[in-house]
Amino acid sequence: MKITEYTARELSAAIRGGDMTVPEAVSGVLTEIRAKDKEVHAYVTVNEDDAMRQAENVQKRIEAGELTGPLAGVPVAVKDNICTNGLKTTCSSRMLGNFVPPYDAEAVTRMRQAGMVVFGKTNMDEFAMGSTTETSFFGPTKNPWNEEHVPGGSSGGSCAAVAAGEAVIAVGSDTGGSIRQPSSYCGVTGMKPTYGTVSRYGLIAYGSSLDQIGPVAKDVTDCALLLETIAGHDRKDSTSIARKDTDFSERLSAASEADLAGMRIGLPRDYYGDGLDEEVRKVMEDAAAMLRTRGAVVEPCDLGLVKYAIPAYYIIACAEASSNLERFDGVKYGYRAEDYEGLHDMYRKTRSQGFGPEVRRRIMLGSFVLSSGYYDAYYLKALRTKALIKAEFDKVFRDYDLILAPAAPTAAPKIGTSLQDPLKMYLSDIYTVSVNLAGLPGMTVPAGLTRDGLPVGAQLIGDCFAEEKIFRAALQLEKERGAFGRPAIFVKGA
Ligand code: GLN
Repeated sequence: MKITEYTARELSAAIRGGDMTVPEAVSGVLTEIRAKDKEVHAYVTVNEDDAMRQAENVQKRIEAGELTGPLAGVPVAVKDNICTNGLKTTCSSRMLGNFVPPYDAEAVTRMRQAGMVVFGKTNMDEFAMGSTTETSFFGPTKNPWNEEHVPGGSSGGSCAAVAAGEAVIAVGSDTGGSIRQPSSYCGVTGMKPTYGTVSRYGLIAYGSSLDQIGPVAKDVTDCALLLETIAGHDRKDSTSIARKDTDFSERLSAASEADLAGMRIGLPRDYYGDGLDEEVRKVMEDAAAMLRTRGAVVEPCDLGLVKYAIPAYYIIACAEASSNLERFDGVKYGYRAEDYEGLHDMYRKTRSQGFGPEVRRRIMLGSFVLSSGYYDAYYLKALRTKALIKAEFDKVFRDYDLILAPAAPTAAPKIGTSLQDPLKMYLSDIYTVSVNLAGLPGMTVPAGLTRDGLPVGAQLIGDCFAEEKIFRAALQLEKERGAFGRPAIFVKGA
């Protein structure tokens, strides 16, 4: 079997069963990257030598019986805003273009402990700000299904890598949709867990009250396995939660065909109104029908305040970003301007040269809404709106187990079209950002294709800590849908 054919759990089982070695698996993935990444550009950094050294080490530990877990030996691609000890972590920014972290993010530590091999860093929108992976300082990633289109963002590299068969599995981060939206555009499965489930230690902060790391995979079961690998309480992140229910894959394997009998799934009316592309609407209707076939009750529901989600999100995210990005001043990290006169000139030039236009725009917006004259009018109002949005979700979850929503209003747009109008790009986050504002879990499962052959994902949203319900419904949706297919580039290569 070719490396691209395996799910992560199948690959690990083959390795643990002696049918393949870890070095073979890792070199298989590296070969795919060499063959395809000039076209796709999913990666910013790949360290082949180090990857092979790790692979040999993990192989020995598997043979010695030290690593027995379900993802042991599996190579994993990591979004480039997640710190990896000794491996460059750039946030796809000139500012961190030469930054080599001296430590691992907690999620990375946990993946290494599980015997996964961290070999490369995936492209993203600069500092995770964007919805297309076009704001990367290193150039855009292409959508493996059609290279004229974006992969979505900001975790576009992670999603494109999995879609193209350049990774078996990956991690991304989601502040306002950055896992769920590119998963939809690339036809892969991705989850943003409940806020606090995965430690943010070592995740380079964008909007700290919204950011979560999560899995990007070929299917629901792989997502559950990777999420339980990286989840867990961490004293190094004060917002991390000690959950006792993170044995997601075990619960999922107990799932039966009758799992969704009587499960109530709401379709928020305001999500299916104007602005939703007709082809996406059709895929969503099909997804609802598949869930009904499996026994769920799927019906329209009312979710209030939908139109306030985007303004509240962009005010809060930019406010936090402007504060978080203050640390990049040319003194402590990364880039420093070459010619300057005095300290203030060094700061000014470093930050104007080191950050791209989208990041600068957001720092300015964030500084404005936090400034003394406008703090009450914008920032405080946005925080109050955030609390009200959470209360609206609470109301829905009194009557429904889950919400079924699109992940984006359209399939993947063409490269070059979104950046011309930033406001329009922000508006396309309508179905994802409120999940982050309310701290909820959400997952995208590939559900259908447009006439032009671009994937469209269906998003399942649950109450806080309701990942298990999401996984169960997602698994039945996946089974009812059947094989989703792969982009042509997936089978191409070596
Ligand atoms: N598109 C959203 C933004 O630009 C979400 C990004 C993210 O989730 N990191 O802020």
